[in-house]
Amino acid sequence: MIKRNGPRTWKNIHVTNTQSLEDLIDVDNSNAQRRLQTTYEFLNQASGDLNALIQEAKAKKKKLRAIGSAWALSPIQSTEHWLVNTKLLNKCFEVDADCFHADYPPDKRPLLVIAQCGISIAELNVYLELPREAGRPARAMKTTGIGAGQTVVGAVSGNTHGAAINFGALPDFVAAIQLCNGTDKPLWIERSDRPVMNDVFFDRIQSKPVRDNDIFNSALVSFGAFGIITAFAVETLPLYEIAFPPIKEVDEPKLASLLGDPGYYAGLYHLEFVFNPHEETYFLIEGTKVNYEEGHPIPKPLWVVSNASGYAPGDRVGRLLLKLPFVSAAQKSKIQFKEYLKNAVLSDVRGTSGQLFTATITYLEGFIETALAVSINDAIATLRLLKQGIREMKLPLVVQVRAVHPGDAVFGFTCHSPKSVVVEFGMLRDSDYPKFEELLLTKLRGAGIRYSLHWSKNSLVDPTRLQQMYGTARIETWKKSRQTLFNGDANLMDIFNHRDLKTAGLA
Ligand SMILES: Cc1cc2nc3c(=O)[nH]c(=O)nc-3n(C[C@H](O)[C@H](O)[C@H](O)COP(=O)(O)OP(=O)(O)OC[C@H]3O[C@@H](n4cnc5c(N)ncnc54)[C@H](O)[C@@H]3O)c2cc1C
Repeated sequence: MIKRNGPRTWKNIHVTNTQSLEDLIDVDNSNAQRRLQTTYEFLNQASGDLNALIQEAKAKKKKLRAIGSAWALSPIQSTEHWLVNTKLLNKCFEVDADCFHADYPPDKRPLLVIAQCGISIAELNVYLELPREAGRPARAMKTTGIGAGQTVVGAVSGNTHGAAINFGALPDFVAAIQLCNGTDKPLWIERSDRPVMNDVFFDRIQSKPVRDNDIFNSALVSFGAFGIITAFAVETLPLYEIAFPPIKEVDEPKLASLLGDPGYYAGLYHLEFVFNPHEETYFLIEGTKVNYEEGHPIPKPLWVVSNASGYAPGDRVGRLLLKLPFVSAAQKSKIQFKEYLKNAVLSDVRGTSGQLFTATITYLEGFIETALAVSINDAIATLRLLKQGIREMKLPLVVQVRAVHPGDAVFGFTCHSPKSVVVEFGMLRDSDYPKFEELLLTKLRGAGIRYSLHWSKNSLVDPTRLQQMYGTARIETWKKSRQTLFNGDANLMDIFNHRDLKTAGLA
């Protein structure tokens, strides 16, 4: 059902985007009327409502964009008129046996679910971890980020990543996409070489199939520009756990030798390291995939809003500390890093991904985060330049680095071979922040290091940087895929041409 809340000023979770909206529109499952609602009624109700809403936006010449949990920090949630809150479309469904394409491997069928766009990572974890019925295994997502509050579609749309060094980022677990873009029917998009569903299914969900690798890989990371994604088919694994030994302190030569050794990381499921840029050592966080076993202590959730004394990274206490005069950046970072090691790293712990990656911070005003990816081969040079910049500008902060296998999404920013490493840090959102970002990117460019910016965290994507990050062929593939899905209807596309797309030269 569509519920209109009217005009208002709207802010995202980090309060980095404040917008004047003509309407904040909720969409939910409540008007699937029958008592015994089926998967198909839920999916059809949502796609029907949203396609009609987009057609109304076209008739009224309004811009419209879907949002999930509003956790992104960059302006990829911006719109001039209507913002559509999809969080209440949060169901997950099994796939009926008669709906699979003949080529979809039988052993993978019990592991495939259909997740509505607004389901959060936490909700999806709960759904997957509980075995439903005989013959269905308990399951787990193939990877997640640190947080559990993002919606599955919001997270994929900005290429959220974890540290699955031998798997990839969140877009890599998507097998199919249901998209509403105001054309005559919802679209069900799959890869041409990995079909998933058959005509029975397309008929039941009243959607038009599109099988095309370029289109699929373009739509994955499309930050609301392709229309409203109503559901994903998500591939999962039988429930597993990740075991983290106590964190290990290493110096730079040791880190360099580990990152340069594929034999070292071949056996890892999760590879991350953190450091205080004012010091010389690094702390390795290495997770190995192990079988699920009952009876292990459940890990304490990390960073759930605040601890017993009311402190949470990101609240005003942290801000106050970081602004203290007469305390050096190195001293502030030392205090910050001590808290970070105590509260935010996975050390000597074992659990399912639903138990380990639980951050649900809901309020982070005054802070901002940057993340960018480089090849693992450039990791050490990047860390040196980053440290140099931080020390030059005397900034208090903590750096986290996670390694991810490169995926196929056309605009997946974790695209560097042989592995991508994502370097990220949170900062006070003051006048130093944009200066530091520019300084860092200038240093990387000067050193000839190819980087790509996190769509959800960094607002610096302009046409020149887009070109440097992805090259002409990928940019053209993404644009052409978008045009094809809209049947070349410029008025429909214009509904989804937002400020950030224009800034990036994509609209
Ligand atoms: C505490 C915290 C922890 C985080 N941890 C990580 C991490 O570990 N790794 C990482 O990479 N990032 C991380 N992030 C960033 C976060 O994962 C991304 O910002 C993610 O995009 C947020 O998902 P969301 O549901 O809030 O989407 P939103 O911020 O609401 O939207 C993001 C984009 O998705 C689009 N979108 C949303 N729903 C739809 C839809 N139904 N159809 C079409 N487009 C849609 C929006 O238009 C927008 O462009 C974290 C953020 C926070 C606050």
